Amino acid sequence: MKQEPIAETKFNPFSNIWVMVILMMLGFQLFNYMAVQEQSETLSYNEFKSKIDQNIIKEIRVNGDEVVATLKVGLGENARYYRTTLPPFEDKTFLELLEKNQVDMHIKSQKESNFWLSFFMLLPLFVFLGFIFYSSRRMKEQLGGMGGGGLFDFMNSTAKKYAKQEVSVTFDDVAGVENAKIELYEVVDFLKNPDKYEQIGAKIPRGILLMGSPGTGKTLLAKAVAGEAEVPFFSISGSEFVEMFVGVGAARVRDLFKKAKKEAPAIIFIDEIDSVGRARGAGIGGGHDEKEQTLNQILAEMDGFESEEQVVVIAATNRPDVLDFALLRPGRFDRKITLSLPDVHAREKILNIHIRKVQKDDSVDLAKVAKISIGFSGADLANLVNEAAMHAAREGQKYVTQDNFMYARDRILMGVEQEFVLDEKDKKRVAIHESGHVLAALLLEHADPIEKVSIIPRGQALGMTEQLPLKDIKNFPQAYLLDKIGVMLGGRVAERTLLGDLSSGAANDLKEATSLATHMVSQWGMSELLGPVYYQKGEDHVFLGREMAMPKDFSEATAKIIDNEVRKIITEKEEELMNLFKTHKKEIITLSDKLVEKELIYADEIKTLTGL
Ligand code: ADP
Ligand code: MG
Ligand code: ZN
Repeated sequence: MKQEPIAETKFNPFSNIWVMVILMMLGFQLFNYMAVQEQSETLSYNEFKSKIDQNIIKEIRVNGDEVVATLKVGLGENARYYRTTLPPFEDKTFLELLEKNQVDMHIKSQKESNFWLSFFMLLPLFVFLGFIFYSSRRMKEQLGGMGGGGLFDFMNSTAKKYAKQEVSVTFDDVAGVENAKIELYEVVDFLKNPDKYEQIGAKIPRGILLMGSPGTGKTLLAKAVAGEAEVPFFSISGSEFVEMFVGVGAARVRDLFKKAKKEAPAIIFIDEIDSVGRARGAGIGGGHDEKEQTLNQILAEMDGFESEEQVVVIAATNRPDVLDFALLRPGRFDRKITLSLPDVHAREKILNIHIRKVQKDDSVDLAKVAKISIGFSGADLANLVNEAAMHAAREGQKYVTQDNFMYARDRILMGVEQEFVLDEKDKKRVAIHESGHVLAALLLEHADPIEKVSIIPRGQALGMTEQLPLKDIKNFPQAYLLDKIGVMLGGRVAERTLLGDLSSGAANDLKEATSLATHMVSQWGMSELLGPVYYQKGEDHVFLGREMAMPKDFSEATAKIIDNEVRKIITEKEEELMNLFKTHKKEIITLSDKLVEKELIYADEIKTLTGL
């Protein structure tokens, strides 16, 4: 992707050289002024007159009512000037004195003196302004015209403009979002052949909202639309609107739309629109005036499109739930496209896109990589390919191998392998704990198959049991969920069965099991006692206002039932496991001993060791 923004060259009278010259001139004047001040001595009018009488004055300069006398040189006095103020009355003796001593007299008109006076008074201000202009310009140069202009440019839109030929992203660079592509192809067609639509009287949607979790390719897709349609692409991020003073955001929006209309057909892309488009009056901190003005301006601009103006506005957000309803109204962002996390096929396609630039050998099996990267977004997959390539490069390989991919995947998912070594006792406990997870997965009918188990500390975890779901399941059957809870409890139950006590190592297992059971009871209607009712329980989006304002929609009595039902699910599962493990102690011991020895065991060996 090469998208160099066009450098916007503007005439600027404050180019470097001019700023330097002006500063130098001002500095020189200032220096003179200071020098005179420095070497002068202020006298009373009488003293001043007596100095003239002493015949040591060469000339005087009268400046309004101020008089500065220059001493004749060579008299060895500290001061080189005397100054005093003329009295407000006529003093003929003063003139006579001057004439008697042949002092030259220079008189400046009142006007001129005022000019210089105010000039000197304003001088620091000039210097200051010059400095600001100068540094603002420097800032702009350093940013290379990218993220926003100089200090005095903030009213203009910071949207980066990409010219047609420079958006080189096309739909080919985006994989696994076929539905979105089909919808967006309409927009591409409209931008390419607007006449076709105009003649028949069809109105193409102006505003398209791309929704999806971070890294699902929203930004990429918006660029691809521009690339396919071969039109200019103006992009701005919602968060840029909120950074400055009240009113600036609205001015930027106005400017952005004006620019785009001038270059129509064109695409305006507003990334992270939720940062300005959040429901008004919501959120901690209350309604934000600036955001509101900016949002209103966006709405006004979108309403103000003439039918012949071929500008399409694409916006992206990962928080569609917090958007102001006014944004979603027909005529604004009425077309909504959801980008979901890629499934296994989509993941393979995305991997295939990103592997294009990478030198790989024949061992690389992207289908397998796709299979084990459940939950990865497009951005995660791009990162995975890069991590694998980096690992290969670090190891001095010429080609990326499948092992590099495995390494990269584990590293992204579970963190870096830790350096520290467990002592024998801890190692044994961790091995038993992990073996418990493995046995639970092997013994429970609906559990996902085991892929590998290790007691190499990684990230926060001391050990890791890894299962591989056979497919990406989006809809979970109750039996599957219960067995999932069973596998989570397996570690703790094994410790209890074989060591007779517990450790703190199961906290995370318990947390996950509780959370899952809570969802089953309160949201998925899987509790006999509670019945098929949906109760929002849990801390999702506490910080967003809308949820906060929402009253808890169930009573204390219901809360108690939920708690009891959750506990029931977990304890029943634990009991089931306790009974199972009583008859399978031998397998757990065999597996954990091997684990202490090898630290990492794959599925095949687990099978032969346990015979399950
Ligand atoms: P979002 O804007 O949704 O947060 P981006 O569009 O910025 O995500 O995606 C970041 C990067 O991830 C992209 O530049 C691209 O390399 C990769 N990526 C994300 N989704 C896809 C996809 N569907 N196909 C190919 N690459 C993708
Ligand atoms: Mg983005
Ligand atoms: Zn565990």
